[in-house]
Amino acid sequence: MNAPRIAPPPEKLSLNTATVKAQWRLDEIIEGCARHGIRGISPWRDQVAAIGLARAAQLIRAHGLTVTGYCRGGMFPAADAAGRQAARDDNRRAVDEALEIGAPCLVLVVGGLPPGSKDIAGARRQVRDGIAALLDYAQPLGMPLAIEPLHPMYAADRACVNTLAQANDLCDELGDDGLGIALDLYHVWWDPELFGQIKRAGRKRLLAFHICDWLVPTADLLLDRGMMGDGVIDIAGVRQAVETEGYAGFHEVEIFSAGNWWKRPPDEVLATCKQRHAACC
Ligand code: ZN
Repeated sequence: MNAPRIAPPPEKLSLNTATVKAQWRLDEIIEGCARHGIRGISPWRDQVAAIGLARAAQLIRAHGLTVTGYCRGGMFPAADAAGRQAARDDNRRAVDEALEIGAPCLVLVVGGLPPGSKDIAGARRQVRDGIAALLDYAQPLGMPLAIEPLHPMYAADRACVNTLAQANDLCDELGDDGLGIALDLYHVWWDPELFGQIKRAGRKRLLAFHICDWLVPTADLLLDRGMMGDGVIDIAGVRQAVETEGYAGFHEVEIFSAGNWWKRPPDEVLATCKQRHAACC
């Protein structure tokens, strides 16, 4: 990790649309990215639905933006068979949408415990089975699935895949043809195995790289993510590690920030993303 650090090319910056979702509709975000010279975009399904899938795809193409991921599928565990079937159907729709919008992968936030359950091992089995079934659908269509491990504080309600090791284990078990990992720094920066598991994942499995920062103190478990440079994550160090493995994709800024960045003028947020990407990544 002692090699000299080189500032990332600005064309590698992507905006996850959650970052300014409080201020702008998706069409405004697309135009904002184009205006600020941000070349990548990763839209969320609810924001796409709000303006219509066909229009979203058309606007992204018209502005020459590259889609760097589609957010999101997953939420596999359910209390009963009907719930699992509903999740299966919704995930297939997410794959279809990801194809139409030109995404390189569908990001999976896998889900936590079904309501009333205390069986996290069972939830993890449901996740494995859910991913396996979705892979049968997505792989022939050419839509890779990117498992995003979430910080353990979300194990109950959002994702019971909490480390890169778990995600790598799933890829080992299910096969990594069409299955990989979305590495979100916010969720995995603390892991003592981080660098070893990046190496284990390798180029083939590293499908997306999400960046932001971990604030000290953190005021809200979900909605207080920091701008790059405002927290304690060695963003440049991890970027070097993933790029050493051959990852050549975008650096996707994903900031949920109810108390700060969602309250600022969105043009200021995008300008700051650009500055900090150059300075801190
Ligand atoms: Zn993410």
